[in-house]
Amino acid sequence: MNVEDGKKRTHYCGQLRPRHEGEEVVLAGWVQTRRDHGGVIFIDLRDRTGIVQVVFNPEISEEAHSIAGRARSEFVLWCRGTVRRRPQDAVNPHLATGEVEVFAKKVEVLSESKTPPFEIQDGVGVDEALRLRYRYLDLRRPEMREAMLLRAGTMRKVREYLEAHGFVEIETPMLTKSTPEGARDFVVPSRLQPGHFYALPQSPQLFKQLLMVAGFDRYYQIVKCFRDEDFRADRQPEFTQIDLEMSFAEADDVMSLMEGMFSRLYREICSREVELPFPRISYHESLELYGNDRPDMRYGMKIVELSGIFAHSELRIFQESLSRGERIRGFRIEGLSSPTRKILDQMVDFAKAQGAAGLIWVVREGEDLNSPVAKFLSVKEKAELSAALGLGQGDVGLLLVGAMEKTSEVLARLRRYCVENFSPPKKSDLSLVWVVDFPLFEWDEKEGRYKSNHHPFTSPKRESLEILEERPLEVLSDTYDLVINGVEVGGGSIRIHQRSVQEAVFRVLGLSEEETKEKFGFLLEAFEYGPPPHGGVAFGLDRIVMLLAGKESIRDVIAFPKTQSGVDLLTGAPDVLYPQQLKELRIRPL
Ligand code: ASP
Repeated sequence: MNVEDGKKRTHYCGQLRPRHEGEEVVLAGWVQTRRDHGGVIFIDLRDRTGIVQVVFNPEISEEAHSIAGRARSEFVLWCRGTVRRRPQDAVNPHLATGEVEVFAKKVEVLSESKTPPFEIQDGVGVDEALRLRYRYLDLRRPEMREAMLLRAGTMRKVREYLEAHGFVEIETPMLTKSTPEGARDFVVPSRLQPGHFYALPQSPQLFKQLLMVAGFDRYYQIVKCFRDEDFRADRQPEFTQIDLEMSFAEADDVMSLMEGMFSRLYREICSREVELPFPRISYHESLELYGNDRPDMRYGMKIVELSGIFAHSELRIFQESLSRGERIRGFRIEGLSSPTRKILDQMVDFAKAQGAAGLIWVVREGEDLNSPVAKFLSVKEKAELSAALGLGQGDVGLLLVGAMEKTSEVLARLRRYCVENFSPPKKSDLSLVWVVDFPLFEWDEKEGRYKSNHHPFTSPKRESLEILEERPLEVLSDTYDLVINGVEVGGGSIRIHQRSVQEAVFRVLGLSEEETKEKFGFLLEAFEYGPPPHGGVAFGLDRIVMLLAGKESIRDVIAFPKTQSGVDLLTGAPDVLYPQQLKELRIRPL
């Protein structure tokens, strides 16, 4: 830097306060704005802590004034000056440094800047693609800078908490073998072993279990993971996990330890207390009441079973559906009263777009119900329906008919739709809940085989062990997912630590003995050398920071995120390789 000795920065711009009055300070930063007021030039100088106004008065320094006159937005300046209190009528209450200004005696331009492609300011509505292409400029905006600092603070607090509870941070390999977490692997060709590939970790799952076998007892890591998934909103191909594992622990131990961590994060970052312990809901109950395994309990609108009311219905679709063993469920929309026909039609369209065969709405009018199917409903059915849904005057109920698996997700989305469109009253403004007792397996219709609901290393509940291979779909697992405001932020489980149980799970999953040996032989072998009982959990750091920062997208809390199609608009990754690189890797060009 072209600055003589003794000219080192003494303060950050955003730190200056009235107590610094009279002090000579040295600042370095970027020009936010420059205003020329009849001979006196004002520059708002910005660094990572904020902005301070620097005044260039030709009566103090002709030279400094003339250099400041050439400065443009985003030029990098060094300057020395004296802190003064602003006159009362010039105080800027919107600026942390608004009571002071710096009268410059000397200034240097350390670096010039082209006119940036967008204003370096919050709330200017810049296209996200442009922000990502020039991310280093986007990161200069206060909002982004604060998000990055909040992220760093979160990581520091997580580390402090876990270290204080005896966890040891241990790194696990990035170039490794596939760990099944239900997504595709990103692979890296090996030059030294032609035709062989490393997989980038989908999670450190197997290594953390091996660390338990190794006796480390409490492991954690804030770690990058990679999952090659198809287009899905707000996911990143690489993301960061807070990953941990502990020996001699039961599900309750893991959950209560994590509750302590989250309550501390909310206290120290958002200044709010969360109630402990977090409520728990079983997977089954969550599906019944909220339609999916990500219940957002800030709102009511619980789903109600209505099949019984329509056991003798005259309505054909009800009769047919119930005779097929299907169900009729629904909920009352909160926050919406006596809607127009248009709103109701929009809801029907929404449900159809989500794959529902149809949606039936009912609106309470006096003692009667208005509905496209009203004439097929008996007085008794209407009264019972009103009571079951809790309909008051003008209230709307939504009913869906069909198989549980099909209607649940649609009901969950309808609930979300209502939350987004009708501002239902909140029961609380923060919902932290554990979803527990997931089934160990699910049946994959397309592939015609069982799949793990979480991953194959999850332990069945002790009482389910006997039916593990006979009735896999009934087996419950020792799992827990944490859901905050309807967003799944992470999950974990108690693991299998007996070789025989692990082998049985692989059998149910349809892995041959040979495949098992080839893929997971090292784990089964490790289980022959004194594996302790163990369990753990992993949380998506990006989502947690997003929630703590009150952002809508994880891209807003990641320094250099990729687009939804996995492209880095800044560097241009992914990119083609030179022919020579391909040759070395023995990969034929397309
Ligand atoms: N490995 C799991 C995951 O990444 C979390 C866990 O079971 O600890 O989702």
